[in-house]
Amino acid sequence: MDVRPLLDAPGVDVDGPEDLTEHLSTRTDMGREYHALSASHHGLERGTVLVDGTVVRGFPSVPRVLHLEAGVTRFFESGAVYVEEKLNGYNVRIVAVDGEPLAFTRGGHLCPYTTRRAHALLDLEPFFGDHPDRMLCAEFIGPETPYTTHDYADVDSHDLRVFGVRDRVSGAPLSVDRRRDLCTEYGFGQPELFGAFDLDRTAARVHEVIGDLAARDREGVVMKSDDGTALLKYTTSRQHHEELAYAFELPFERGQDFLFSRVLREAFQAYERDESPEELRERAHEIGEAILLPFVETIGDVDAGEPVGEDHTVRGDPESVDALLDHVDNLGVTLEVVSRERDGDEVVVEFRKVAASTRDRVDYYLSGGTYDE
Ligand code: ATP
Ligand code: MG
Repeated sequence: MDVRPLLDAPGVDVDGPEDLTEHLSTRTDMGREYHALSASHHGLERGTVLVDGTVVRGFPSVPRVLHLEAGVTRFFESGAVYVEEKLNGYNVRIVAVDGEPLAFTRGGHLCPYTTRRAHALLDLEPFFGDHPDRMLCAEFIGPETPYTTHDYADVDSHDLRVFGVRDRVSGAPLSVDRRRDLCTEYGFGQPELFGAFDLDRTAARVHEVIGDLAARDREGVVMKSDDGTALLKYTTSRQHHEELAYAFELPFERGQDFLFSRVLREAFQAYERDESPEELRERAHEIGEAILLPFVETIGDVDAGEPVGEDHTVRGDPESVDALLDHVDNLGVTLEVVSRERDGDEVVVEFRKVAASTRDRVDYYLSGGTYDE
């Protein structure tokens, strides 16, 4: 494998090719062989891909602030801070390789389903005709998606919202203004922009926006420097509770890892918002419900012999849906197809990612197994 394009990419710091080759996994999807980095190394982000001699930089990890007032002024140097909605879906990077637009997920998987949906949802040819070296960074959102399931009132099935345009090799972003204009020009949907604020007013405005977003069941915001390089995230209590409930529905798949970080976010948010004793008690109550109710329900399901796992519904032409099921199966996930229906030219498939650890552990305790503390 010739990894030279990766070595030559801006910001990469290696002594020789072997520094990288040991971290690259070789994969084949859609008839293309490619190499992907499963963790960040030597200045390259997780999910960076080398495909047919083209580097596709990973999307950078976005730091989170816990205390807004203190964190925002410390993180951003000066100038305006752009506040955009943070959408809850999965991260997709779209690039044109040999003129063919391909969609990669965060971890660097070329996803055949996402690629086909991107072609169906976005008018990609004019954009890549004019900007062949650019990468569209977008969130795939909606109830009918294979990897996430958050509902949006205005999205019946699924949709893509472009939140960044970058150079695919260097990863350098366009400024927020330039990116928003470009997306408007090509007709791409984007996350809502709440405004650009002076540094010393940003935290107060984000507090207001967050209260409003929480009431509407939305995830949060991403704050951005005007040049698009510095990104900072902050999320709503509703989002934390939703994530806890998601985690504790399958406690032995993901419960433990999720808990501390969500409680940490809640504690700092409650403190900074200077909540009344009643509000704080209400928050505590919601956290408790988010953890315990799904957990107990899952125990009941296992006891009743019902299947446990994560259910998803996907929609698309039969080839993209079948390609997806194969793709997920190849990722090592145990799949069960729950239903399959035709809707005009499309098929709608409900499938379950089986949660074997939760099923087996709960079953073991229900049959009297002991827990070693
Ligand atoms: P990390 O960023 O730490 O690797 P993660 O994968 O858990 O973590 P999130 O907590 O969802 O990611 O936060 C970052 C992600 O938010 C981005 O990768 C992107 O997919 C998503 N996102 C949604 N809306 C926006 C937006 N308006 N601007 C930038 N990113 C956004
Ligand atoms: Mg996310």
